[in-house]
This record gives sequence, structure tokens and C-alpha cells, in this order.
Amino acid sequence: MSHAPASSCPELHAIRAGIPALSRRVHDKPLIYLDNAATTPRPQAVIDAVLAYESTFPANVHRGVHTLSGEATHAYEDARRRIAAFFGGGELVFTRGTTEAINLIASSWGEAALGEGDEILISALEHHANIVPWQLLCERRGCHLRIADVDDTGALRLDAATAAMTDRTRLLAMTGVSNALGTVTPITEICRTARARGITTLVDGAQMTPHMPVDVAAIGCDFFVFSGHKMYAPTGIGGLVSSKAMLDSMPPWQGGGDMIRTVSFAESTWNDVPWKFEAGTPNIGGAIGLGAAVDWLSTIGMDNLANREAALLGDMVSRLESIDRVQIVGTPTQRAGAISFVIEGMHPADVGAMLDRHGVAIRAGHHCAQPILERLGHSATARIAPAFYNTSEELEATEVAIRRVIDVFG
Ligand code: PMP
Repeated sequence: MSHAPASSCPELHAIRAGIPALSRRVHDKPLIYLDNAATTPRPQAVIDAVLAYESTFPANVHRGVHTLSGEATHAYEDARRRIAAFFGGGELVFTRGTTEAINLIASSWGEAALGEGDEILISALEHHANIVPWQLLCERRGCHLRIADVDDTGALRLDAATAAMTDRTRLLAMTGVSNALGTVTPITEICRTARARGITTLVDGAQMTPHMPVDVAAIGCDFFVFSGHKMYAPTGIGGLVSSKAMLDSMPPWQGGGDMIRTVSFAESTWNDVPWKFEAGTPNIGGAIGLGAAVDWLSTIGMDNLANREAALLGDMVSRLESIDRVQIVGTPTQRAGAISFVIEGMHPADVGAMLDRHGVAIRAGHHCAQPILERLGHSATARIAPAFYNTSEELEATEVAIRRVIDVFG
């Protein structure tokens, strides 16, 4: 018996009606969108906010004396204030997303703080965005990348993370939720342990922010990074939340307009944070859209959303477990956002393509997290990533589609 929310719930019906992409048909079937870990569909409230900027006050920020520029600056900075508040406060630097935020930290903080023989500790669960920038930094600075392993269920345990910390560990950079398996890590406890040892901490929040209330101060990390498009905002916007003291202590990253206070050919001086890290014209419409997305999420309530998603995930796991030849990859007890699976004798790409014919959108592949799949003995999986707006009817239809795919494939 399913405990997942049904589409008959009037509140859910209204939410779904406010997300235009959900009314699409694909291959003449109603779209069942279960690829939310890759990106989330945009609600009309977000689209309207971006449209208002683009059509009514499409001006640059912090520059002009005219009315439109004042309106754009106000909307951009007010979005920053609301987004930072959504994460419990702190300084918010806008970036293109998680990847750019991690590269900013690696180049600015990393170049200044790390040297020969220092260690950066990540986990086996990381997305490539939280692996490759550190590999590049290690090459430049002569430091070493260390990996905290997971257990065979794909769970990262506090003792494994603690055991991997050494006297040379300078940075711990770990995800709060794995995009490939859905594992929720004990990130607050890990950060507490690391900070007690004087280790700087970075949390990849890309898969946390869409699924749970996030209070960066309560997590207690030095850097928290996230992507807007995974939390119902447009692509090309996201951010880094940190403290003013930390950001003040870091050298600028990219140079250009807006990040300076004065420029002469002899020398330049820098703007205050957060603008010191926002060189050039930013993604103004994106920031305004992200502001609208956090307002929209706040109205729904992150606790409500998390409760709904827990029910949906439990329901989908049970459905997958009931199908012969399906193996779930990664069975952590704490899960959010995603379920990876394989079907015996079928390539995940074929599973994804055949489900698409049924209108079901999932992801298949390595999910930009090749090491964790390899750790669990796979090169690719199919991944179902539901969100709170999905319904139990959609999950049931997905189960039926998977059974059909298996029957047809033989
Ligand atoms: N980290 C995690 C855990 C992710 O899921 C993703 C996106 N799949 C990223 C980092 C990179 O995010 P973006 O591509 O938005 O920069």
C-alpha cells in the first residue's frame, strides 16, 4: 500500500498546475518527470520573476543612476538577502552554480592556504565537480587528495571520515547528499569533527537544498555551495555561503568590473564582499529567479516538502524491490532525492530511452560521479529522482513502465 501523496490532494494539484512543464506530453504520453537530481522544472512564479526583470527593468546593477538600474539593483540585492536568509544567514556570493563556487574556493582560498604536502579530504561519493577542481589544485600546489570511503551500502560513516583526517588535512570538502545514490551523509557531525581539528570545511549542498531545510550556521561549515537550477530556479545561478571574515581573508578570484574599488595602472583595490567575488555583469535575471524560487519553497515549507519526499522515496524503493531483475544500487538508510538501479541484462541507457517512450524521464549513465559507481561495481545506473510534486500515481505508472520495458526487452 502506498503512502505517497496522491495527485487528488488539492494543494498538490495547485502546486503542479503552477509548474508549466509538468503539463507537457512526451511521445503522446503525459510527462512523468523523475530527473529532478539533474535539474528541477521551473514554477510559473520563478518564470514570472525573470520575465519581469527581462521585460520591465532589464538594466545593469550597481552602475546606473537611472530608474531601471535602481530597480534592477534593488531586485538583485533583495534576492541575495532573501536567499541568504533561506539558508539561515551568512554572506552569499552569487556564482553560476555549485561547480563555479567550488572552483572559486579552490582558486582563491586554495591557492593561498594550501602548500606542498597538505591534504584535501573528500568522500567516495563526490560529484566530479567536487573532485576535479581539487585534483587541479593538487597539481598546482603539490598537495594530495585523500578519500573517505563508503560502506557497501553506499553510506558514508562518521568514523570512516574521521579516520581519513590526518595532521596534514587542511580542507574537508564533502557532499551532504549523493546525487548518484541519494545517500544522506552525517555532514554536520563530520564538519564538527573536522573543525575541532582546525580543518577548513566545504559542504557541497547541490542535492541538499532541494530536499531539506538547510541552516548553514547549524551545519557549521566554512563554505556551503549550491545550484539554483536544482531548487526550481533557472540554470546559470547558484552560490557560495560563507562568513564575512572568511571571504575578507581570501584574495579575489576573477578580475574585472564590480569587484574593484579603485583601478589605476599601478594598482587596484578591491570591493567589499560579496561583490569582491562577482566580477563582471552577473546573472541578474537568474538571481531574481532564484529569489522567487526560495520564496516559493518557503511557502510550501521545506519540512512539508521533506516529509512528502520521504514517502515518495519509500514508495518507489518498495516498487523497485518488487520487480524481478531490478537491483537497487546503494541502499543507505538515510536517503534523499535519488534511487539508482540496474536491470539485469539491460544497459541503463536502454532502460532510460525505453522509459522515455512511456513519457517517464529519468537519468541513465554515470551521473558525473564515476568513482562511487565504480566503488559499487557499476559503470552506469538508471536513476529515479522524484521530487515532492510527484504523485503516487506517477510512481505506479513508472513501475508499470519498467515492468513493460523488461517484458519487451525479454
Ligand atoms: N554536486 C552535486 C552533488 C551535484 O549533484 C551537482 C549537479 N549534478 C553538482 C555538484 C554540480 O552542479 P552544477 O552543474 O549545477 O554546477
